[in-house]
Amino acid sequence: MDSENFRKFGHELIDWMSDYLDSVEKYPVKSQVKPGEIISQIPKNPPQDGEDFKKLFSDFEKIILPGITHWQHPKFFAYFPVNSSRISVLAEMITAAINVQCMSWETSPSATELEEHVMNWLRDIIGLPKNFTGVIQDTVGNGLTCSLLTAREKFTNYEINSRGLQGQPKFIVYCSSEAHSSIEKVVKIIGFGKEQLRKIPVDKNFAMIPEELEKTIKEDIDKGFKPLAVVITIGTTGSTAIDPMESICKVGKKYNLWMHVDAALAGSALVLPEKQWMIKGIEDADTFAFNPHKWLFTNIDCSAYYVKDFESLIKTLEILPEYLKTQTQGVKNYRDWGLQLGRKFRALKLWFVIRNYGVKGLQEKIRYHLELTKKIKDLIESSNEFELLAPVELNTICFRHIPKGMTDEEKINEHNEKLLNILNKTGEVYFTHTKLNGKYTIRFVIGQTEVQERHVIEGWNLIKEKARLMSLN
Ligand code: PLP
Repeated sequence: MDSENFRKFGHELIDWMSDYLDSVEKYPVKSQVKPGEIISQIPKNPPQDGEDFKKLFSDFEKIILPGITHWQHPKFFAYFPVNSSRISVLAEMITAAINVQCMSWETSPSATELEEHVMNWLRDIIGLPKNFTGVIQDTVGNGLTCSLLTAREKFTNYEINSRGLQGQPKFIVYCSSEAHSSIEKVVKIIGFGKEQLRKIPVDKNFAMIPEELEKTIKEDIDKGFKPLAVVITIGTTGSTAIDPMESICKVGKKYNLWMHVDAALAGSALVLPEKQWMIKGIEDADTFAFNPHKWLFTNIDCSAYYVKDFESLIKTLEILPEYLKTQTQGVKNYRDWGLQLGRKFRALKLWFVIRNYGVKGLQEKIRYHLELTKKIKDLIESSNEFELLAPVELNTICFRHIPKGMTDEEKINEHNEKLLNILNKTGEVYFTHTKLNGKYTIRFVIGQTEVQERHVIEGWNLIKEKARLMSLN
């Protein structure tokens, strides 16, 4: 593509993108295509001769767009959000144009220095202590990998890095039974295996029970194992339960454990002073991770990873072959702060988002989402056909429908699963589910950048209407 066409189509594309974001509601929020429907429309072999942008874009609209689930749709109430903002999209465009690789300070000094600075801003905005230093990772899962690797190396004086796991004690990692599945994946990756992960029971609010944690640690010590680390979840994926950090850290300190905080979604809510209680006790944690790409209006991927002892992180991960040696001393080379060598310039979008919204703007948005959540929670609570299944701590409401006279738990589960499918097939809304205490639970998650009261009310009305129709049949 030459410069003239780039300019021409680029301008057209900005118009398309702007129209898309203005009118995303016209699309079915959850893609309605069948498996294989997209691939069947794409030629089996790549073209031998180049095709022009017009043809590419027309195929994008015709073939690809129908297979897109619209995560920026204001009635996307599924999973946790991956929201964005117009300012973040503009920053991504700049990032794409300059397309720098930010592995070392020298490979783009601005990228490194901006990342350091913006991560300090973000740390202060969310109320982490000043002795935490940040780096941007792709996901909190990979942040956790870095965290547990650091713990492992620190405790063995970096022996596993040089000699492998043979002859080492059986290290144990602890998390709650409601913690995210990525923890299990990480313990497999770092060579511990699932058997070395303990899922600690939770209380009636789905938060880890510190006494159960201590009991399990003692049992492991008695068996000759080496308790290594605890993952504290602030905002579990199922119901946004908040593990009691202060009490868990007390236990952790007593047994000299490494403590990591997974606040994937909830970290964004820490922009609010009234949510600071969630991290009471944070001074005793070693690492902390959350995703601005979930609920802080910053395009995926942008995951904030904070570490107290960054020297041991670097010592764990750094490798310096001849071809990566540079002249400049005393600078940060972020390739040694994470798993990736090749790194995108992710700080720019975060910088733009924080500056464009301002701290007050971020607070207003998150507060508004929490207000909408409370509105829906109150409506569900006051309806005698619906049941709340977990406390509403943040932007997620867990509930189910119980048709009059239905008492069999299995039937109620089947009924709610059916209700969820009916709702999602409308294309008007998108909800997902979990199971809490064996109960099929519909999750209503409110975190879209442009969500307004009418969207959540329409979502709630649709739930009531479909549930009522099902009860009549
Ligand atoms: N932890 C929690 C509490 C989550 O909710 C999620 C994803 O939703 C994750 C971890 C995994 O996030 P990531 O994809 O950034 O690894």
